[in-house]
Amino acid sequence: MLPEASSLWLLQLLRDTQLAQFYRPILEELNVTRPEHFDFVRPEDLDGIGMGRPAQRRLAESLKRYRSGIKPKNWVYKILGGFAPEQRKTTTPTESLPVLPEPDGGLKCLIPEGAVCRGKLLGSGCFGVVHQGLWTLPNGQTIPVAVKSLRVGPEGPVGTELGDFLREVSIMMNLEHPHVLQLHGLVLGQPLQMVMELAPLGSLHARLTAPAPTPPLPVVLLCLFLRQLAGAMAYLGARGLVHRDLATRNLLLASPQTIKVADFGLVRPLGGAHGRYVMGGPRPIPYAWCAPESLHQGAFSSASDVWMFGVTLWEMFSGGEEPWAGVPPYLILHRLEKERARLPRPPLCSRALYSIALRCWAPHPADRPSFANLEGLLQEAWPCEGRCVRDVTESGALRMESGDPITIIEGSSSSYSPDSTTWKGQNGRTFKMGNFPASAVTLVDLGGPLATRPVHRGSPLRGERHQGSTDRDREKANLRNLPAARGQRRNVPLQKMKGISKSLESVLSLGPRPTGGGSSPPELRHARAVPRGPTDLPPRPTFASSSSQPSQPPRARPPLPKRELPHSQCPGAPGANKATSPSGSPLPDLEWQRKIIEVELSVHGVTHQECQVALRASGGDVVTAIRNLKVDHLFHLSSRSRADCRRILEHYQWDLSAASRYVLARS
Ligand code: AMP
Repeated sequence: MLPEASSLWLLQLLRDTQLAQFYRPILEELNVTRPEHFDFVRPEDLDGIGMGRPAQRRLAESLKRYRSGIKPKNWVYKILGGFAPEQRKTTTPTESLPVLPEPDGGLKCLIPEGAVCRGKLLGSGCFGVVHQGLWTLPNGQTIPVAVKSLRVGPEGPVGTELGDFLREVSIMMNLEHPHVLQLHGLVLGQPLQMVMELAPLGSLHARLTAPAPTPPLPVVLLCLFLRQLAGAMAYLGARGLVHRDLATRNLLLASPQTIKVADFGLVRPLGGAHGRYVMGGPRPIPYAWCAPESLHQGAFSSASDVWMFGVTLWEMFSGGEEPWAGVPPYLILHRLEKERARLPRPPLCSRALYSIALRCWAPHPADRPSFANLEGLLQEAWPCEGRCVRDVTESGALRMESGDPITIIEGSSSSYSPDSTTWKGQNGRTFKMGNFPASAVTLVDLGGPLATRPVHRGSPLRGERHQGSTDRDREKANLRNLPAARGQRRNVPLQKMKGISKSLESVLSLGPRPTGGGSSPPELRHARAVPRGPTDLPPRPTFASSSSQPSQPPRARPPLPKRELPHSQCPGAPGANKATSPSGSPLPDLEWQRKIIEVELSVHGVTHQECQVALRASGGDVVTAIRNLKVDHLFHLSSRSRADCRRILEHYQWDLSAASRYVLARS
């Protein structure tokens, strides 16, 4: 039987001293309901209920501690008997208890049953149902809440469910972050109820899959959600917790622009030297979201949460589609490991964002970025914002009207008209996505509400637009003023370059149609956007050796091939693993595939195919392939010879961004 809230202090006290068996006798025979009542209890009274003298001494000690205010830090654990996990991080008593209005019984977080009334059903999960509710505080104020009730069978709550439910309470009560769902308290009634912050707009998954006329979510908002999620997950990781069930179904919308991580039922503390949690036995896990090591050994860590973050990103940009739909669970691991398959890039997802997802899906946990890194990577991949400067009605192009806000996803890889420069973007008015002539849009940096943008160091002022040669000159001057580059890449956010790129792009989009190089992602485009050279460019070589080339004329990079996963990596694709190893022998050659991915992850914006060609040319040497591809990139950015490009890259320690900045500043 569960204790009454008003006497929980007693049970807590007795559990502390392993004297819980005396709870009922003390309460019912000695009528002790408050700590002060012990002042009137004599040793004989305690003898009378069968408590020995050593036990009485322990009780007296415990009482003294209790009265002097040293309370145990995890009250659910203490009260309800050891369900809560041990936290690695030591917390002070004030840290561990959320600041809440104190209900009758004196224990924070316990809410009297009558103070909460349940309303409409919001959903159901593995522990039971979730209702909308109203919590009336002692001062009469009411707060809208969500109430999760533990499912109770005819025999009472099922053991593991009760344990998981209490574990969730215990974990949530120690958390406080703007993007983590807040627990208000627990109702010790029948059933047991968890009272939480209400997320009035429901789950992100429901929003993503909402049928028309609900419009799809803007790309820029999805990016904001990703950043919020990375921040919340970095917070959980720092507290030594692994979530294990990261998915859009467990992200709740507290407002149209705010997500909160919820559902802490699978959260576990990370333990041991490796910061891992290994499952003790077979329990259901979200297979399609899981990292290979979780599927193999039941091992979870912050790195496996990062893998799940990648899948969640994929869900967001796929309109809430199910990952690996149609692939039986036992085959998912096979696809991931044996075929090196990865979820394909959704059309709404830029190459830059997809390359982040690919990094989250690195086979080895240690190769995945941390959540703290992810926050920075997302900032670098932030889409540019633009505004339409003329109506676009061309067939095949994204329809837009002058003044429409446009989010540029990237330079298009497939143009609807081969001789024009196209971008791919989303119209913020219609939410439609498609290709459009770059000349129809001018980039307006920092136009949106601050909350929707990352911190943008080194970029123009809010609402500032870049037009005409004055701005261009200013940008060039800015470029020249950049500090010497050796080793600076690590400290200078790419976003800084992005601000520069936007400015150059806007100059071009307002002037005559740019004559080349408009087909790669915007963050690369700035580099080759200076209009020069013929419109009809030779196709970009898939890979060029590092041998010296004539330095003139300057070149622009033709459209990059689509950076979709190769056919062999798409789920359900027939004829998997068509790639060939250096010997020309058909794969499967896992080592070869691993190398391709390594190269792909090391050179921003490079295609899988290009990696293969580069690796073949280098005889399978990854470092050489990466360097050659970087030389190739720089070569296409500038009017310099390959030998020059190589020298510049060497000078910048093969930091492509720094080298690109250098050549641009001198172009
Ligand atoms: P869960 O048991 O946590 O998986 O929750 C089941 C469903 O209830 C979720 O998918 C949500 O739709 C809904 N839900 C859970 N918690 C909340 C909340 N705090 N606010 C609004 N809806 C919620």
